[in-house]
Amino acid sequence: MFDTPWDTAQFQPLLDNIEMRHNKIVLLCFATHWHSDKTIGLAYSREKGIKTYTTVLNDELSNLNNKKRAEFLMTKDTNFTTGQYSFETGYLREAHNRDNIVIWFEKERILYTGYLIKGTDVDDLSFIGDGNKKTYAGTLKKVQKKFRHPSWIVITNSDWKDIGSLKHSIRMANKLGRNN
Ligand SMILES: [Zn+2]
Repeated sequence: MFDTPWDTAQFQPLLDNIEMRHNKIVLLCFATHWHSDKTIGLAYSREKGIKTYTTVLNDELSNLNNKKRAEFLMTKDTNFTTGQYSFETGYLREAHNRDNIVIWFEKERILYTGYLIKGTDVDDLSFIGDGNKKTYAGTLKKVQKKFRHPSWIVITNSDWKDIGSLKHSIRMANKLGRNN
């Protein structure tokens, strides 16, 4: 599971749903940056026996901001394999937040970006108060360069099949960098 529901009442229904619909149980849980909408379910997941992971930087910021924290900390970009799936975590520097990471499934070419990338249906990068307007575009370009030719870009609120979201977000971030 990458990021948890923001609504705490949805934790258990989500786990039940995954088990019911996909006949799978959640083994691993990652928070892709320290904001509550990503970290709030870490403690609950941990209670449920799910292995929870964040980066060291994420943990520092979560601690500082009184957010839930993970059991296991990653000191660098890390590869994971579970069942038939392998994926890696990538930290390409500051953007939406100081600690935002992305997840890359090389074989399936799925890029999970959490809140870093916005859909082509929105015209701003929304809240960046804890992030970095100057480096945002550069970080997205690093993501683009490192994780080539994704088939899917999984983002928080918009269409995953529309991989134009990355280029669109770079354009928005370029504007942001110029205005600040
Ligand atoms: Zn956030």
